[in-house]
Amino acid sequence: MPNAKTDLLSLPPDEAEAALAEHFEARGQPSYRVRQVLTWMFEECVATIAEMTNLPAAERDALDAAFSFLEPTADTVSRSSDGTVKHLWRLADGELVESVLIPTPDRLTLCVSSQAGCAMGCTFCATGWAGFQRQLTAGEIVSQYRASRRWALDHGYGRISNIVYMGMGEPLSNREALHPSLTLLNRGYGVGARRITVSTVGVVPGILELAEREEQFRLAVSLHAPESELRSQLIPLEKRHSLEELMAALVQFDRAGGRRITFEYAMIRGINDAPHLAPQLADLASSLNAFVNLIPYNPIPYQDWKASRGQRIEEFRSVLEARGVSVAVRVPRGRDIDAACGQLRASRMASDSPPMPDSGKRLEAASAYAGKDPAETDLTNPGKRPE
Ligand code: SAH
Ligand code: SF4
Repeated sequence: MPNAKTDLLSLPPDEAEAALAEHFEARGQPSYRVRQVLTWMFEECVATIAEMTNLPAAERDALDAAFSFLEPTADTVSRSSDGTVKHLWRLADGELVESVLIPTPDRLTLCVSSQAGCAMGCTFCATGWAGFQRQLTAGEIVSQYRASRRWALDHGYGRISNIVYMGMGEPLSNREALHPSLTLLNRGYGVGARRITVSTVGVVPGILELAEREEQFRLAVSLHAPESELRSQLIPLEKRHSLEELMAALVQFDRAGGRRITFEYAMIRGINDAPHLAPQLADLASSLNAFVNLIPYNPIPYQDWKASRGQRIEEFRSVLEARGVSVAVRVPRGRDIDAACGQLRASRMASDSPPMPDSGKRLEAASAYAGKDPAETDLTNPGKRPE
């Protein structure tokens, strides 16, 4: 018997079916056992093998011995006054990841994490500051959905209708787990491909790979700046995959068909909201017929940056609209529970881990850039390190 058991929750439906068929056949069990287990997993979404009550006890024990079925435990559940719910999940090895449920009148969106931490080091992102711990498995991504789905049903939130990979981590830097997790959520758990959005900071090979999938998963791109030099101050990956290369990959994704790309643009006062940037953003978006989400920057513990003023955000919106670009200004959700990317974990870990060793350097670089815009005086503040 191998040391590491196969995780049943990580296997795409056809592989799970094959593994279960082999398992039950070896035990001389009827073939309908396979369907019974698949129904418990994908339709009933049970948390444990013990709950598969139409299986004989001996078969449940045997299944438990042959496979792992690991769900995270809830370390913290925070409910915002606006209905947003954030779970901080503890994984089997003690690692912490977050997911967020966001109810709106017509949908219930779940935001999942794809990595514990993130290696990309974006200067505006709490997850980026906290560094990379490890990749999540497909099962660990999907089990955020499974556990959240049960929680939502138990607490009157209804069914999860949409999933966004906008929690911790860069999903396209964990393609080995991302692809089976997409297959599982879509074919196993029945979430429509067009209701699943993968958000990336611009991992070009991953975008090209996603373009090749036949299902119509959606893509959101964290743009945050319409010119390369500014973008590289916010997103270190820009130095590896330039805006130009990113745009070329997006053209290919767009040609692959049927899926409108979304640009995410966090508006940071004096950093990326200078008026001349709005028409540049409009040009990039209209070349792809992309949808633009303008998101007021959510302050994080490691930076003194502020959200753009409301008036500036409205100016951006009207420049984009005047140029025919579809745009929405996103109302921040769950601010009272730190529901933005990486924040709950960041505050939970603050006592156990020191700030990243290079944080001073990155602040200098970012602030030096901010200093280039003399019109915005309160942005030259060098930021403060966590105590
Ligand atoms: N790594 C992926 C997905 C996770 S981040 C990505 O970067 O796209 C999810 C979204 O939150 C991204 O659009 C990211 O740019 C945004 N984000 C991160 N920190 C933010 C902050 N402090 N304020 C506003 N948006 C932020
Ligand atoms: Fe990672 Fe996305 Fe945060 Fe950048 S914005 S550090 S890619 S999670």
